[in-house]
Amino acid sequence: MNNWKHNHILDLSTFSFEDYKTVLELTERFKDVHKSSSRKLPALQGLLITNLFFEPSTRTRSSFEIAAKRLSADVQNFSASTSSLSKGETPLDTILTYISMGADILVIRHESTNVPTELANYVDSNKINTSILNAGDGFHSHPSQGLLDLFTLAAYFNPDNPSPDNLLNKKITIVGDILHSRVARSNLWALTGCGANITLCGPKSLLPNEFGDFVLSPPPGQSVDPIQTRGSIYIERSLEKALRNADAVMTLRLQKERMKQNMLTDLDTYHQKYGLTHQSLKWCGKKVPVLHPGPVNRGIEISSQLVEDNSINLISNQVENGIPTRMALLYLLGLNKKSL
Ligand code: ASP
Repeated sequence: MNNWKHNHILDLSTFSFEDYKTVLELTERFKDVHKSSSRKLPALQGLLITNLFFEPSTRTRSSFEIAAKRLSADVQNFSASTSSLSKGETPLDTILTYISMGADILVIRHESTNVPTELANYVDSNKINTSILNAGDGFHSHPSQGLLDLFTLAAYFNPDNPSPDNLLNKKITIVGDILHSRVARSNLWALTGCGANITLCGPKSLLPNEFGDFVLSPPPGQSVDPIQTRGSIYIERSLEKALRNADAVMTLRLQKERMKQNMLTDLDTYHQKYGLTHQSLKWCGKKVPVLHPGPVNRGIEISSQLVEDNSINLISNQVENGIPTRMALLYLLGLNKKSL
């Protein structure tokens, strides 16, 4: 933990293997806090955590709130629909208002890529002691989702020791609307950073060939890659081939609200070609877990039967693990502030 250097959490391309280890170890430590007699820890008592969600959210916003409360922080929630945005205030002025109120950690979701990064630059250049935690920006990044997925997979492969080492040389297949997915991008950095090889599968319109080179070394804007050896990324258009010998599969929703135009007209054909079902999973050749970040569109990217089969899907594990993962991130950012 002494090696933790991030004052903001914006994007997993900056994470080292040690960072993944630190987050997963803390997640494991925090997993059962709510089962203890006090149900919480005093770790962040007195800190103010502000959740600013400019885009709708069910899982992420609620689990950041629960995570903050389990660490005894004070929590403030902003919702775009009931704010002064409707009176013409700009989002920047709204954000600055919350910073002026003394937010120690500002958890932000915004539909525009890079808003959290620009905000982090702003607070740094104005020497404001607020940490920015990206809860999803446009197509770009969703680091807490990437980390909770990593924990979920690491715990699946070895429940007694959910370490990022468990991902080494695993084949993880990600199917669906990769182009519009910040979850896929964060998973690509995290999973390749832990040595997994990724097969991406989807139609060209939702998975351009350029994704094969998505993980650059060094990552954009950095002079060295914090990861020594990354796993590889492959593109496979046929679901049958993409699933062959997979160790785990993740499927993604068609993110229509992020599409410039309607890119798919025939959802039945899409489901037949790319939908995960008990039948298509047979192509894996063994029993493999299925992940989905939610929200799920039943009958499109995944069959209803598979959503209801929790002997195969890890959807509720992902939701459950979201809380201790976000506790770990808030704790790591909050530690510095506590020792001021
Ligand atoms: N909940 C995830 C996100 O915020 C995935 C999705 O919306 O499909 O990106």
